[in-house]
Amino acid sequence: PQGATVAQLAELLGVPANDIIKRLFLLGNPLTLTESMSDDLIELVADDLGRDVKVMTKEEENSFTFYDDPKDLKPRPPVVTVMGHVDHGKTSLLDAIRHTGVAEGEAGGITQAIGASQVKINGRTITFIDTPGHETFTAMRARGAKVTDIVILIVAADDGVMPQTVESINHAKAAGVPIVVAVNKIDKPGADPTRVRQELTEYGIIPEEWGGQNMFVDISAKKHIGIDNLLEAVLLEADVLELKANPDTFASGNVLEAKLDRGRGSVATVLVTRGTLHVGDALVAGMAYGRVRAMLDPKGNPVETAGPSDPVEILGLQSVPMAGDEFRVFQDDRDARDLADQRALKARIEEQNRVKHVTLENLFDTM
Ligand code: GDP
Ligand code: MG
Repeated sequence: PQGATVAQLAELLGVPANDIIKRLFLLGNPLTLTESMSDDLIELVADDLGRDVKVMTKEEENSFTFYDDPKDLKPRPPVVTVMGHVDHGKTSLLDAIRHTGVAEGEAGGITQAIGASQVKINGRTITFIDTPGHETFTAMRARGAKVTDIVILIVAADDGVMPQTVESINHAKAAGVPIVVAVNKIDKPGADPTRVRQELTEYGIIPEEWGGQNMFVDISAKKHIGIDNLLEAVLLEADVLELKANPDTFASGNVLEAKLDRGRGSVATVLVTRGTLHVGDALVAGMAYGRVRAMLDPKGNPVETAGPSDPVEILGLQSVPMAGDEFRVFQDDRDARDLADQRALKARIEEQNRVKHVTLENLFDTM
C-alpha cells in the first residue's frame, strides 16, 4: 500500500484537511498537509472521524475472492485463445470456426461484433477470445486474470516453429494452460506436419500419438479441413479440465477490451467468469462504474443475460475500463459507486507519488 497524504485523505473522506490535522495532533502524530500517513494511521483517523476505512493491499483490491459451494457449480463452456506466429493462420482459423457455427444453423450472420466469439459443436459451446492474442494474454496475466482455459497453438506446416510460436508456448506454460496444437496449411505443397511435431518436441510439446500430453490436429484454415476435429479436440481437453462455475449469483469476470464510442459512449467487452450478468446490474470494472444499459452477444444481438464463459459487450459504464480489469456486480448501487471512487482516488494518489516534487499547487492540480 502506498499510503496517502493528509490532503489526499481529506479529499477521500470529504472532510476539511484541518480536521484531520487536528485529530493527528491529538493522536500525538502532528503532520502537515503534504506528509504521508501510514495505513494504520489512515484507518485510525478515519475511525476517529466516524468513518469506516479499510486500506486494501494491491492484491485485495485487484482480486476478489469468491466462495462457491461445490453443489452450486455447474459445467461451463471452455474459453479458448488461438496463439501462434504471425501469418500462421490465427485470423483464418477464427473465420473458419465462425463459419462452422453458422453452418450448424445458428441464427445470425457471421459478422463479428466483438473481440470474442462463440461456436456450437455437437450441442456444446466453445468461447473464443480473438482480440490480438499475445497482447491480451500478456495484459491479462500481468493483472492476475486468468481468462483462458485452453490455448490453440497454430503452426503453419510449411514454416514450422518460429519465434512467436515459442513465445506462445511460454505464455501458455507460464499460465498453466493446456495446449492443443493446430498444424495449419496442410493443403500447401511444402507442408510437413511431421516436421512440426518433431520441432515442437524440443519445447516439451509432444503429441499424444508419440506418448506425450498434447493433442495435434492437422488442419487447413483456408480450405476448412480438420476444423471439426480441432473443435472436438478442444472439447476433449475441456472435459479433462471439468470446467465449472456458479451461474446463480452476482456476475463477475474480466474486461477483454474497452473503448469510447462516439455514439454509444463507453463500450466494454467483458467475459463473465462467475454468476449471471443482467441488463440493469450495477457494476464496477476497474475504476469504471455504471449500470448495464444494454448488452450485445458476439453476433451483435441484444441479450438480457450473460452467464459463465459468455463474452458480451456492455453499454452504460461512465468511463472506459482497461483490458484485464476485473468487473463485479454489486447488489447495492452505492457500494459499486464507492468502490469505483476509491479506486480512482487511489490511482490518482499513486500517480502523484510518482511525481518527485509534490508541491501544494501541483498536488491539487492533479486531484
Ligand atoms: P495470422 O497472421 O496468424 O492471423 O494469419 P492469417 O490468418 O492472416 O493468414 C496469413 C496468410 O496465410 C493469409 O494469406 C491466409 O490466406 C493464409 N492461410 C491461412 N491459413 C491457410 C491455409 O490453411 N492454407 C493456405 N494455403 N493458406 C492459408
Ligand atoms: Mg491475424
